[in-house]
Amino acid sequence: MDPATFSAQIDPARPLLLLDADEVLLRFVEHLEAYLPTRGFELRLTSFQLGGNIYDLSKDARAEGPVVKDLLASFFDDCTHDVPLVDGAREAIESLKAHYDIAVLTNVPERCRDARMANLRAHGLDVPVIANRGEKGPVAALLAGATDGPTVFVDDLPPQHASVAAHAPDIYRVHFIADPRLAPMLEKAGDAHVRIDDWPTLERHLITHLEG
Ligand SMILES: [Mg+2]
Repeated sequence: MDPATFSAQIDPARPLLLLDADEVLLRFVEHLEAYLPTRGFELRLTSFQLGGNIYDLSKDARAEGPVVKDLLASFFDDCTHDVPLVDGAREAIESLKAHYDIAVLTNVPERCRDARMANLRAHGLDVPVIANRGEKGPVAALLAGATDGPTVFVDDLPPQHASVAAHAPDIYRVHFIADPRLAPMLEKAGDAHVRIDDWPTLERHLITHLEG
């Protein structure tokens, strides 16, 4: 769904929850980790980044930038439809639907958007998916402008929190990293209001947030 179409569907009386997919709803890194050896590569999680941590097994050397780019592109083509869900996400979202309008704001390539939506649906998550490119601040600002209620943004990447803070400072920003190995590698993003890494806690926090 394009942002303008979704924005027209937003109920101006309801709070809005904008969720990232990879490492918030979907176990992206874990799935990539399983995929890379099928292509002769390996992910070594020594820091919070992909580039620099992908190794060519035939050379036991770091894969070069363009190779990483190609691998990620083919990973999206091959695997967008069957990425596993983060524990507790479905139950939390079912409960949060009573409190928020919910959309997934994801930087998945446009050609993979339908596969991502089908992937989420197969996990029981029937929510609109907006495929974004680059920084999320402008689209988040557009969507937040369609409701008079509060908007919440959840993402694992600090630069996206900076972008949303710059374009729509009133949006409440939650820094969330699902992978238990990646989470300790990064402190709370400076531009996020709070850091939470599991869905049951996030669910309670987002309900309390509306009461406060
Ligand atoms: Mg992400």
